[in-house]
Amino acid sequence: MAIIKCSECGRAISDKAATCVGCGAPVGAAGPPPAFNREPVYTDSAPLSPAQLRWRLALSTLTLLLGVVAADAAGRYRAGGQVARTLSALLLIVGLCWFIVALVQSVQARRK
Ligand SMILES: [Zn+2]
Repeated sequence: MAIIKCSECGRAISDKAATCVGCGAPVGAAGPPPAFNREPVYTDSAPLSPAQLRWRLALSTLTLLLGVVAADAAGRYRAGGQVARTLSALLLIVGLCWFIVALVQSVQARRK
């Protein structure tokens, strides 16, 4: 329970009260809106199927491995210069992030 100020008369009232004890103005109706919605948000999209999850995991692993191979080649042979190093680093980062997301999604799907 918290003590709030009536928006009409300014009197200190309980936030649990339906109306202000001083002026009868409804409590909460005129108050500020909640800062954020704590209700979970459900989407209409269907959950990912096990096959979709496997594909995502496989493709993300492939991207990550490609990034590792490309970064290794770019570092070892000094081929392609700055562009090759930047692209391989990008591939590595995207592959790693995607792999982590796919891993979390498949773990969450298994828990349900
Ligand atoms: Zn009041």
